[in-house]
Amino acid sequence: METTPLDTPAPLKFASPFLDETTIAAAADVLRSGHITSGPWVERFEAALSAHCGGRPVRALTSATAAIEVALQLAGVGPGDEVITCAQSFFTVLNMIVKVGATPVFVDCEPVTRNIDLGQVEAKIGPRTRAIIPTHWPGSLADLDALYALARRHNLRVIEDAALVIGSRYRGRPVGAIGDLVTLSFHPNKNITSIEGGAIVCNGDAEAKRIETLRFHGIERRPDGTRDVAFPGGKFNLPDVNARIGLAQLERLPGFLAVRRGLVERYFARFATDPGCELPPRPADGDGQSWNMFCVLLPLDRLTITRKEFRDALAARGIMTGVSYEALHLSTLGRRFGYREGDLPETERIASATVTLPLHAAMTTADIDRVCAACAEVIARHRKDGR
Ligand SMILES: *Cc1c(COP(=O)(O)O)cnc(C)c1O
Repeated sequence: METTPLDTPAPLKFASPFLDETTIAAAADVLRSGHITSGPWVERFEAALSAHCGGRPVRALTSATAAIEVALQLAGVGPGDEVITCAQSFFTVLNMIVKVGATPVFVDCEPVTRNIDLGQVEAKIGPRTRAIIPTHWPGSLADLDALYALARRHNLRVIEDAALVIGSRYRGRPVGAIGDLVTLSFHPNKNITSIEGGAIVCNGDAEAKRIETLRFHGIERRPDGTRDVAFPGGKFNLPDVNARIGLAQLERLPGFLAVRRGLVERYFARFATDPGCELPPRPADGDGQSWNMFCVLLPLDRLTITRKEFRDALAARGIMTGVSYEALHLSTLGRRFGYREGDLPETERIASATVTLPLHAAMTTADIDRVCAACAEVIARHRKDGR
C-alpha cells in the first residue's frame, strides 16, 4: 500500500465552508427539537438578514437559483419578455430567465471588474425589455447609481445577483440596503453558508407576502380556512435546520470577510511582480469589498500550455482551482438565442483564460504563498521564450 509522506500538505480546495462546532451543535439542537422545516429559525434568520440589509424585508429560499426564479416571477417577467444580463456570470442567471419563459439579451462585461458594461445596456432596451440582471463581482460592485438611473429612465425592474458579494458595501451601505430586488446565496462556496440556501431582499410587505406564496406552492388562504392556488408556485422554502446554520454564519460574516481580505492582500502582494497574470481590481476602499473568489487571467499567449494543463499541473501539486465563469452566450442554451463567438469579446477573453485560485476562511497566508509559488513555478517552466 502506498502511503502519503507525512510532510505532504493536504490538498487546497478552491472554496470551502467554515463550520465551527458551536454551529454544528446548534443545528443538532434544531434537529432534536421536532420542528425541522420552515419555522421560527427561518423568521430569525430573515430578521437578521433584514437588519444587515438596512431594514429592508428579506425572505429566505432554498438557493439563489430559486431566489432569481421567484424574483423574476415577482417582477412579472414571463413569456414574450426580454431580460438584459451580462454574459460573464453563472449559468443560473441564463437558466432562470429561460425557465420563466423570457428571452435573455446579453451584453458584455467591463474588462477589469467583470461587472455588466452599463454603457451597452441602453442600446439593447426595447419594447419587450422588462428587467436587468447584473451580477456583482468580488472586489468591485456594479455602479448602482448609474444602473438605477438607467432602470428608472426606462421603467425597468432590477434583480441584483449578489450571490458572491454579501458583506460588500456601496458608498458605505451593505449590498441589499439599497436598490430593487437583490438575491443572495448561501451555498457552501459563498461568504456564508446554510448548506444550500438563498434569499431575496425586496420592497415592502406586499412583495414579501408574494414571495412567501411563490416559494410555497403558490398557496393562498381563503377566509373559510381552505386553501387556493392561482399561480403555479414552487417549493423553495428554507428548512429551520439550514436557517439555524445561516444565522450562526451571518454572525461570523465580519470575521470571515476580514480573513478573506487579509488573504487577498497577500495574493496582491505576491502577484505584484510575478508571474504575469492579470489580476482583479484592487479596490481603493479595500474594507468595503468582500472577496468570495480570487480569479486571475493566465498569460496564455505567452505559455506553451493550455489552461487545462495549467490547472492539472496545479492539481498535481495539491492545489485545486475553478473556472468562473464560462461565457453564458456561448453555452448550448445561450446559442439557441442566436449568439456566436466574437459577439462579446471581453466576456470571451475572460472566459478563455480565467482561473479561480483557492480562497476561503480556513486558509492561511502560508497557503496563499504555496499557491503563488506553484503558479510561478508552472508558468516559468512553460514560457514560450523559455525565459
Ligand atoms: C453561486 C452563484 C449563484 C447560484 O447560487 P445557488 O445558491 O447555488 O443557487 C448565482 N449567481 C452567482 C454569480 C453565483 O456565483
